[in-house]
Amino acid sequence: MRIDVLTLFPEMFAGVFGTSILGKARDKGIVSLSTVNFRDFSGNKHNTVDDMPYGGGGGMVLKAEPIFGAVEHLLSEIQEEKKPPRVILLCPQGATFSQQKAQELSEESHLIFICGHYEGYDERIREFLVTDELSIGDYVLTGGEIPAMVIIDSVVRLLPGVLGNETSAITDSFSEGLLEYPHYTRPAEFRGWKVPDALLSGHHAEIAKWRRRQSLQRTLTRRPELLQQAELTPEERKWLNTERKTREAVKNECKTDS
Ligand code: SAM
Repeated sequence: MRIDVLTLFPEMFAGVFGTSILGKARDKGIVSLSTVNFRDFSGNKHNTVDDMPYGGGGGMVLKAEPIFGAVEHLLSEIQEEKKPPRVILLCPQGATFSQQKAQELSEESHLIFICGHYEGYDERIREFLVTDELSIGDYVLTGGEIPAMVIIDSVVRLLPGVLGNETSAITDSFSEGLLEYPHYTRPAEFRGWKVPDALLSGHHAEIAKWRRRQSLQRTLTRRPELLQQAELTPEERKWLNTERKTREAVKNECKTDS
């Protein structure tokens, strides 16, 4: 996979792209990670990339020319027969990023990220240049660099050969619509707190059953809305309904008592 990031602050990416799993993925040649400073495409002698908004108001707006120039330069390097890249604009108004989106992007061969700054972008970038707009959540950051890092990290770890243990991405929270089960490691008893017996049993089927049940329970408690989309067996649905009713009854009892 090839990933290019358009940014005014390429130095922010050095640590993230060169460290840990991303660094190793890059060293192994699984992904190429590059930054492009779109100031180099300003097309004016002062290297200006922003200007005041038409109609007045506070904040500066990123101009269309440098960003179009940088993306078109990258596109001109691509051979015609190759699939065109996804051009992703980071912005709080975009679709909220998710594990599903990470999976979808990990199947692409080339991604271009555009990191904004200041008040926002000239709207023509949004309308005529990008293929996707992504947000990492309902809050506003100073720039698109951290969101780009978040998305790139979650996409690259899904590429084949990046994670040592291939199964770990499959069992991660959200991958199958549920939160992941709890983990324990040695010692089997710490300060009197014991590891659940099922995990010490050595029976694969029993361990798998315990983990699945924990995943369901955890999702029901913390993120019940996820269960609507999750793939569940009829027995699991039945069990969840009973669990919900029991919890409801306990809640009502507590209310009556108080
Ligand atoms: N005025 C803009 C608005 O209200 O939508 C916010 C601009 S923000 C200060 C500057 C840049 O940071 C954005 O253009 C975007 O690239 C990035 N950014 C901020 N919050 C983000 C988020 N939640 N997700 C993705 N990018 C974000």
